Amino acid sequence: MSWYVMGVDLGSTTAKVAIVDAEGAMVGSKIVQMGAVSQEAVRVAMEAALVDAGIGQSDIVRTISTGYGRKLVPADKTFTEITCHARGAAALFPGVRLVIDIGGQDSKAIAVDDDGLVDRFAMNDRCASGTGRFFDVLSRALEVPVTEVGALALEGSDGLEVSSMCATFAETEVISLLAQGAEKDDIAASVHKAVAARTVGLVAQVGKASPVVMTGGVAKNKALVHFLSEALRLPIEMLDEPQIAGAYGAAIIAREEHLGNMAAGVSDVATEQELGAALGAVAVPHCAECATGHLDGHTHGRAISVTIGKRPMADLPGPVA
Ligand code: ADP
Repeated sequence: MSWYVMGVDLGSTTAKVAIVDAEGAMVGSKIVQMGAVSQEAVRVAMEAALVDAGIGQSDIVRTISTGYGRKLVPADKTFTEITCHARGAAALFPGVRLVIDIGGQDSKAIAVDDDGLVDRFAMNDRCASGTGRFFDVLSRALEVPVTEVGALALEGSDGLEVSSMCATFAETEVISLLAQGAEKDDIAASVHKAVAARTVGLVAQVGKASPVVMTGGVAKNKALVHFLSEALRLPIEMLDEPQIAGAYGAAIIAREEHLGNMAAGVSDVATEQELGAALGAVAVPHCAECATGHLDGHTHGRAISVTIGKRPMADLPGPVA
């Protein structure tokens, strides 16, 4: 009898579902845009993915959830986005060594080993700097849809000084640049370049490696991919649908669990505990610089970096400026 597994990635802005068959092929998927994190969006995405795959709920033998809202998903087990994006990216691009995942509200650099497992990661989830939300703010300030802000950036020149990397202050700065007569495309290009430079800082914490794959919704922004590739001095490999990578990774893990051949040492319990301990150990107040008025951007987008997976978490650096 045919069987299928489901991966569900409930993020901060979208619900993503991937359905994988017994051979590991993705046979159905759906991305649903949400106003806010919502169980209704998950339900809609699950049903649409089942229709896309041409199967029913009773054909699903195991469901794994991931993402910011993973605990809200009716699933057999949860895994972190770090694990799932790494697994999804490694399956979609075999041999990948560095995954840069930028979603709606956080950004991550994940070093991947020979087996496609997480080696190290660095994450910025402390402020909107360099995340999808930052581009959403930029698009609002420029009155250009977020899906077109990258194309606009590719038409501009990137020489404008963009000093603030805090989304709140960046919006003010963009409006101020517009008021001074700067062109929208030049503003967009300069902001993208600044975000790319910031992302390189995140990558530096896990070590530059190639091939590089970008996942998450922001990977659809061609200008960011362009500027990031330039700043890293490395090509960035493009996936057909980078936003589904986490859900696909979750589905792959569900399949492995169903087959009972999950590799030792990569259980979600270890990962969840280590991640929780790591995040707890660096108790950084959210966006403290905004409150204290730092406008130069140097201390925003601080990141944590942790070693997980098969190796012990040796040292745990604190927040990085
Ligand atoms: P999450 O998992 O947190 O919901 P996603 O990985 O779905 O986040 O990414 C959402 C972000 O991706 C949005 O905030 C938006 O900035 C960006 N995004 C989505 N689609 C596009 C697109 N077509 N072009 C550029 N950016 C996009």
